[in-house]
Amino acid sequence: MAKKQHDTQGTPSQQAAAASKPEAPQPPGQHEQTLPEVEHDKSLAGGRQAHQLAGHAEGLFVDTAELARQGRAFEDLTPITQFARLVGDLPTQLPGSKVQWSVAGKTDMQGRQWVHVVANAQPVIECQRCMQPFALQVDVDNLLQVMKSEAELEAQEAHDESTGEVVERIVGTRRLDVLGLVEDEIILGLPYVPKHEICPSLPAPLHEADDDDTPSSPFAALGKLKNH
Ligand SMILES: [Zn+2]
Repeated sequence: MAKKQHDTQGTPSQQAAAASKPEAPQPPGQHEQTLPEVEHDKSLAGGRQAHQLAGHAEGLFVDTAELARQGRAFEDLTPITQFARLVGDLPTQLPGSKVQWSVAGKTDMQGRQWVHVVANAQPVIECQRCMQPFALQVDVDNLLQVMKSEAELEAQEAHDESTGEVVERIVGTRRLDVLGLVEDEIILGLPYVPKHEICPSLPAPLHEADDDDTPSSPFAALGKLKNH
């Protein structure tokens, strides 16, 4: 049996906080389906992890097949600093910065199993243009297909038969690290070269280099228009 490392009671205030938290602002058209509520019914056979979830950011493990079969969902607000792999190489994070996330299982009409991962985070990251740290909004909304084994994952096309789109897949496990999965998806959601949309301040030489090296810069174009 998988051993459980977290203790059994989340404090009532933590549970209340998790239950009553406001909806995150969501981009239009993104969250078309409503996620099931986090279960708090401890009478359900598989409900124990959900019941323990609030306030327990670490050590949340679930059986992927059970998650998908029962259509269970977890959600919580977790301090970003608890995602050690994410923040390990990043600048100091904003105090109190939290990741809002949910992980929901489902099984479709064809019997395929899925895990829906949604996360919103604001990691502080270094701008690769001006080298100043800034809080980047990262929104993750990914549907992962659960494969029964590595062999099945390799044997099947990573494309949806109907849409032809690439499907992200994971291998099912009795012990899915829920927060690890959320963390993976956030890391994958980070831009390869993070940059301010518009840097608040650039050192003068960098400004010049920008103007010289990128004639297609919208600012250069704007300047030309103005000079007409
Ligand atoms: Zn910048």
